[in-house]
Amino acid sequence: MNPFTYARAASAQDAVRLGAQPGSAYLGGGTNLVDLMRDTPARPDTLVDVTGLPATIEERADGSILVGAAVKNTALAAHPAIRSRFPALSRAIVAGASAQIRNMATVGGNVLQRTRCAYYYDADGADCNKRTPGQGCAAIGGFNRNHAILGASPSCVATHPSDMCVALAAFDAIVHLEGAQGRRSVNLTDLHRLPEDQPERDTLLVPGDLITAIELPPLPFSARSTYRKVRDRASYAFALVSVAAALDLEDGKVRDVRIALGGVAHKPWRARRAEDLLRGGPASADAFRAAAEAELAAAVPLHDNGFKIGLAINTIAAVLGALATRGGKP
Ligand code: SF4
Repeated sequence: MNPFTYARAASAQDAVRLGAQPGSAYLGGGTNLVDLMRDTPARPDTLVDVTGLPATIEERADGSILVGAAVKNTALAAHPAIRSRFPALSRAIVAGASAQIRNMATVGGNVLQRTRCAYYYDADGADCNKRTPGQGCAAIGGFNRNHAILGASPSCVATHPSDMCVALAAFDAIVHLEGAQGRRSVNLTDLHRLPEDQPERDTLLVPGDLITAIELPPLPFSARSTYRKVRDRASYAFALVSVAAALDLEDGKVRDVRIALGGVAHKPWRARRAEDLLRGGPASADAFRAAAEAELAAAVPLHDNGFKIGLAINTIAAVLGALATRGGKP
């Protein structure tokens, strides 16, 4: 670990002032950043501690919920309004990491955690364009069972590791930012990038940008939602494939639907093709499977992860079937 200085931000403006300095990084719970500093892909000169910034969960009159970026993952998953009105989000957070890590990790940090591609963390060995642009990608010719099947590039085939962000993508969450140019907001589905030829950039944020809050807009059918994560072991493992979905039914037809996938791409993957095919059509097992197959038609497997295509199709179909028949309950 390299030497660094530590500063505690007293306000969002104070954090942005400190965070805009070259070599600065924001410190939330540190559950990913400290690992990155130990393994050396991250070498900040200054850590700006933002855990003292607002950690409130506000239910607003218009039905939206505003979640402070410093809210701990555990607190968000356990909040009564999240459990009752956005159960997919609560279940996604509980599916992520261990209880100890969820107790430390913040919402803002969860959004900005970096891929768990093992080659990225192997600073002394493997080539990695995300760690060192232009170096190459060891995963493409290496072991890539956990890597992307959608939206990857010849530069990088990493996946986004967050479970929480998959549910946020399904719910059209809005990310509130404070930066050198003032306040702005961006849809979460636009915040994270596909790798293209710049895999070192995970998001569209610029230096100094601070996530201050995540907004969940009101969604009339968000209570009929769930999250299913398929992984190699029952806990403390990243998703091979995960699905967050919400379903609105009327007279046996799909009035509206939201679907997002995890474990398949460099960003939480909003399954808009499947959603478009389902809206207005029958809420049947055949329709669910056909929509899932259409979404995965663009998948490009690597040599170790072709199984993810069928796994994603089966998981989407199963989740939608559960939502249609049991409201998402197991
Ligand atoms: Fe690096 Fe991305 Fe290749 Fe992994 S997949 S080695 S993160 S460039």
